[in-house]
Amino acid sequence: MTLPTHLQNIHLPLGDQRTGRFYGQDILSVAQFDRADLEYIFGVAEAMRTMVAHIGTFDLLKGKILANLFYEPSTRTSSSFLAAMERLGGSVIPINEVRYSSVSKGESLPDTVRTLECYADVIVLRHPETGSAAIAAAAARKPIINAGDGIGEHPTQALLDLFTIREELGRIDGLTVTLLGDLKYGRTVHSLAKLLALFNVKVNYVSPEILKMPAALVAQLREKGLTQAEFKALDPVLAETDVLYVTRVQKERFENLDEYEQVKNAYVITPATLRPAKPKLALMHPLPRVGEIAPEVDDDPRAAYFRQMEYGLYVRMALLAMVLGKA
Ligand code: ASP
Repeated sequence: MTLPTHLQNIHLPLGDQRTGRFYGQDILSVAQFDRADLEYIFGVAEAMRTMVAHIGTFDLLKGKILANLFYEPSTRTSSSFLAAMERLGGSVIPINEVRYSSVSKGESLPDTVRTLECYADVIVLRHPETGSAAIAAAAARKPIINAGDGIGEHPTQALLDLFTIREELGRIDGLTVTLLGDLKYGRTVHSLAKLLALFNVKVNYVSPEILKMPAALVAQLREKGLTQAEFKALDPVLAETDVLYVTRVQKERFENLDEYEQVKNAYVITPATLRPAKPKLALMHPLPRVGEIAPEVDDDPRAAYFRQMEYGLYVRMALLAMVLGKA
């Protein structure tokens, strides 16, 4: 790749000593990352951001193929991985609707990934069952990237969430992060809380009683030294909050839809809600939103959720480059 002269001082850390840590690896859980890994990933993501801003698309992964295998609906994750691969000069086999693939004939997940790895260099997988990414990884020789496994984890979302916090507020240590909404079924908050435990932060959980953060996860994070507190209402913690991370109530995970009806509108963020909040708050949401944040909030400079999606592109470009040994 020959860069124009004005871009030649941009540091894409190709061939770095740490390359081996991610080359050929699966990305299954945030548990596999330490702080040094995160700094490294974010450094590559910054470089990707600069490259996209200046030249849009470049040939780092020319000739590489990604299989995007989605057993559950997705807008952002599937299209950002697709865009990430194409911006890096690679190409994509998109299987966004497994109904039209051999999965509908009863093909198992291991057989499906064994098939796709014959054609692709890396597989991004979203699946409704917790642990499915690990099952796929056990069957595959090529890297599997977990793009959400049921209520389990969504590691690439958590990485982009943390990158967003760092970009928006300039730091992570010392912050108070409030996770709001469906903390029981929301896989993004499960992964994000685990990553936050690597930092010196305070985490507030605000949810209805039936959607509390799983007790086992709270206990595990307590062991790691994370300061956590649980609330039913946002009011007691809003003023001290630096990052307000709002989530959708995950309708598709409820066995009893009456229960969903009782909690679906438990919290709605409006301009009035945000009045007591800090002027430098980062208001985040993994999206899609279905009423938890009123559209009138979108013009508030603290609304970071659209920028958050864009940061996701750079983080996913970084991850693809790393697992394919190019960063
Ligand atoms: N898009 C996120 C996920 O796949 C959040 C959500 O669906 O509410 O987990």
